[in-house]
Amino acid sequence: MSALDGKVALVTAAGQGIGRAIAETFAAAGAKVIAADINADALDSLQGVERLRLDATDPKAIAAAARAHGDVGILVNAVGFVHAGTILDCDPEAWDASIRINVTSMYHTIRAFLPAMLERGTGVILNISSVASSIKGVPNRFAYSATKAAVNGLTKSIAADFVGQGIRCNAICPGTVESPSLQDRLRATGNYEQALADFRARQPMGRLGHPEEVAAMARYLASDEAAFTTGQTYIIDGGWAN
Ligand code: NAD
Repeated sequence: MSALDGKVALVTAAGQGIGRAIAETFAAAGAKVIAADINADALDSLQGVERLRLDATDPKAIAAAARAHGDVGILVNAVGFVHAGTILDCDPEAWDASIRINVTSMYHTIRAFLPAMLERGTGVILNISSVASSIKGVPNRFAYSATKAAVNGLTKSIAADFVGQGIRCNAICPGTVESPSLQDRLRATGNYEQALADFRARQPMGRLGHPEEVAAMARYLASDEAAFTTGQTYIIDGGWAN
């Protein structure tokens, strides 16, 4: 018997990084996984899952996905975008984009998938947040941290509203994790080696996290073993926020 036998999970941003690791880990744990991403090509090589091209900022497409997959009992919201800079670097367009991608996307997916969970009297929602949020102030992560703090609040609010109806909603707050977008951010600094050394230097464990380590936490939180936890922000950061 595997941890997620008989469960149906939809994972957004499943094409790469943490979302991909969660999709693979959930499938290996027995779940039927719908792996969704805006980039269909990124899903091509994923095995043992159903692939779905889905823009998590498009409410119509999300509503259609919810109608087509009414049996989803685990919703993992993994979409997130890092805007680099302070408030003074963040013009209104960049601010709106961060809110739309990082917060409003989760608002839409949860509004679409929650009603069927409520009808069945059971459901799990996992939101991928960050320690750069209400947990820790991080330089040059203004829009990112503000929106991830909103994700933490959204998570707690949903957990409180539906705790009596079989719904659990938790957030996972990773520190710095190896991923393709992290590699892009390192390259974008213009000095890849220095940027990587700086990231490692702020890690008490001297290394970055692996997507599979975050996925293992997600597998636990999605499983019935975690039946007594809701409304929490689970930090997994190698001791960074300690
Ligand atoms: P990533 O950023 O490398 O990949 C994100 C995936 O999301 C891509 O496959 C991309 O095509 C997809 N995507 C982008 N916009 C989308 C949209 N509108 N709809 C659907 N899919 C979309 O992955 P990552 O770095 O592992 O980040 C995943 C999540 O983890 C994000 O929420 C991020 O904020 C969070 N996080 C990451 C780190 C880290 O260090 N990597 C740390 C803390 C939190």
